[in-house]
Amino acid sequence: MKDKPAVFKRIVNWFAPPPPWRVPLLIQRASQQSDRVAIAESNGTYSYQELLDASHRVASCLLGKADDLGEARVAFMVPPGFAYAAIQWGIWRAGGVAVPVSPLHPAPEIEYVLSNSQATTFVVHPQFEPAIPRIAHAGGLRLVDTTAAVSSDIRRLPEINFHRRAMILYTSGTTNRPKGVVATHTGIHAQIKTLIDAWEWTANDRTLLVLPLHHIHGIINVLSCAMWAGALCEIHSSFDADRVWERLSSGEVTVFMAVPTIYTKLIAAWEKENPERQALLSDGCSRLRLMVSGSAALPVPILEKWKSISGHTLLERYGMTEIGMALSNPLHGERRPGYVGTPLPGVDVRLVDENGKCVEEGSPGEIEVRGPSVFQEYWNNDEATRNAFRDGWFRTGDIAMVENESYRILGRRSIDIIKTGGYKVSALEIEAALREHPDIADCAVVGIEDPEWGERLCAAIIVRKTLSNKDVREWACRHLAPYKVPTRMLILDSLPRNAMGKVLKPEVKILFR
Ligand code: AMP
Repeated sequence: MKDKPAVFKRIVNWFAPPPPWRVPLLIQRASQQSDRVAIAESNGTYSYQELLDASHRVASCLLGKADDLGEARVAFMVPPGFAYAAIQWGIWRAGGVAVPVSPLHPAPEIEYVLSNSQATTFVVHPQFEPAIPRIAHAGGLRLVDTTAAVSSDIRRLPEINFHRRAMILYTSGTTNRPKGVVATHTGIHAQIKTLIDAWEWTANDRTLLVLPLHHIHGIINVLSCAMWAGALCEIHSSFDADRVWERLSSGEVTVFMAVPTIYTKLIAAWEKENPERQALLSDGCSRLRLMVSGSAALPVPILEKWKSISGHTLLERYGMTEIGMALSNPLHGERRPGYVGTPLPGVDVRLVDENGKCVEEGSPGEIEVRGPSVFQEYWNNDEATRNAFRDGWFRTGDIAMVENESYRILGRRSIDIIKTGGYKVSALEIEAALREHPDIADCAVVGIEDPEWGERLCAAIIVRKTLSNKDVREWACRHLAPYKVPTRMLILDSLPRNAMGKVLKPEVKILFR
C-alpha cells in the first residue's frame, strides 16, 4: 500500500485525541486537598500544600537551565519521610525518572544501581553523605544535597506525557544481578487506582509506614495510595516494634501494611508485655479498619496468632515489582488463610503450563499477568524483557493453584518448586507443615541436587527448644506424604534474609553443600 501524503497525516493527527500532556495525577490531586496534613514524621507534620511547594523547588533545582529532564534518571538516597516524598515528586515534576537507592545497601550495590540506571544526578540526604560511593564523585554525576534542593528558587515546570517513564525499581533476580523495573506514569496510576478501589482508601485514612522506600510495597501500596486518597501518612524512618505498637493502639491509625516478618516481630513484642498492657494494645489495634500482609507468604499460624491478638484476619495479597498488586483477598467477605484471593480490578490473571496453555481449575500453573499496571521493560535489558513476556502476558515465575475460585501460591518456578523422585512438591507447603510444630520457630526448605532423587529435600530449622532430627522427621511423617519429608536437616540460630525480610534460599542451599 502506498504511504499517505504528509499533509493527510497532519490532518488525521489534528483529529486524533491529544497526547495526555499534564501534571502527574498525584500532584493534580494534591492541589485539591492542599490544606490537609499529608505527612507526619519525627520532625513534625506537613500539609499537601507544603509537599507541592517543596517538590516544585526540587524540580526547579533539578532542571537548572533545562526546560525538561526528558526522562533523565535521577537517583536519590533519602530516608523515609517528608523529604523523600518531596524529592520523588520533584523528579517527576521536572520530567525525570526516579531511581530510589536504599541506604541499607553496601557501596558496590549502590554503584551498580547508579551505573546500570545511567543516572545523571544523585540526590543525597546529608545523613548519608559519608556513605556516598566513590563512583558518585568520580563518574561525572551531579550530586545534589536534599536541603539545597528543597530551598531552591521556583521556576516554570514542564507538562508531562503520562506514557513517559517515571520510576525504576531494582529487584533482585534469583540468578544474576538485580534488574531495573521501569514503570511509566500511566502504570503507576493504574497500580495505585486498583488498590484505592479495592481497599476503599479515603481522605479520612491515616496509615503508618514502616517499610523501606526502595521497594514497591512501601512506595506504591502505602505512600502513593495515601497521597492519592488525600489521607495522612505517618512515617517512621525505621521499624521499632514497641513504637509501632504504641501507634497501632492509639486509635488514630486506620490502615497498616507490612510483610509477615514484621507481624512476627510485633507478635513477639506483644508477648513480652504483661496481661493488662496486652489487653490495652489489642483493644486499640482492633479499631483499625484494615491490616494487610504481603511481599512473602503469610504463614497460617502467624495469621491465626495475629487474629487472636488483634481481632484482625490479615488481608493477604499477592504482587510483584513488575506488576504491582495482582491478587487480593476481599476487603469485605471471607479472607481465606493460606490464599491470596482473586484478581484486583483491571488486572488480568491466568495460570498456564510449560507450553503457555491455561490449566484446569485445581491444577498448578505459572501465574501470568496482563493489564495497565504491568511494567514497561527492564532497563537496558531487551533480552530479559523479551523473555519475561509471552503473547503480551508477563510471566511471573510463581506457581499457583485456584481452589474454590481463590488463588493459592505454591512457590516459585525456580526455587520453591522442587522435583524429587519425579514428584513436584512445594517448599512452602512443607515449611507450613513444619511451622505447625510447637517447637519450630521458623524454617526454610530447599532442593539440593542429588544423583538418586534429582533433588533431595533439605530443611534449615530454627527451634524454640532442643529438637532432634528424629523428632522433626517423625512430625513431618505425621503431617506430609512420605515423598515430602525432608531427608536432611540443619538446626540454625537464624535464616539468611534480605532487607525485606525474605529468606535467601540460595544462601540456605549453600549451607547444605
Ligand atoms: P517483589 O517483587 O520483591 O515484591 O517480590 C515479588 C514476589 O514475592 C512474588 O513473585 C512472589 O514470589 C512473592 N510474593 C509476594 N506476595 C506473596 C504472597 N502473598 N504469598 C507468597 N509469595 C508472595
